[in-house]
Amino acid sequence: MALGFIIFGWPKRTKSYGPTIPEYCDHCDNESYFSLFKSRRWFSLFFIPFLPLGFAKRYLLCNVCQAGFELDQSEWKRLKEFTSVTKAFHDGNLSEDEYLEAYDNVATELWGEFPSELEDGTPQSDGPTETMG
Ligand SMILES: [Zn+2]
Repeated sequence: MALGFIIFGWPKRTKSYGPTIPEYCDHCDNESYFSLFKSRRWFSLFFIPFLPLGFAKRYLLCNVCQAGFELDQSEWKRLKEFTSVTKAFHDGNLSEDEYLEAYDNVATELWGEFPSELEDGTPQSDGPTETMG
């Protein structure tokens, strides 16, 4: 008997990029890694997705509770780069100090955790200046 029907659907494909950045999640109250996810709907025929629909959405989600937020293009790009830094740290190719420094850089760049007067690289300090020797 010939099967004359066509199966199509609108599946949502989600790709995970692995642990990206350690952050405190105020949704589940855990200190955890957040992971990058890209999600996009595809038009599929006979279960074979062949046509991407619309723009992919990019997210940074808590590994524990999957809460998170959508990222814009530049945030995504920066965090995707940082995923390889996290991987290097997990593989033992980066010391904790190096990793924390890299983390500070990316967190400051993306979310600005430091006072604005530090942004131009000339911290204003009236305290004593440390000199070596
Ligand atoms: Zn969470």
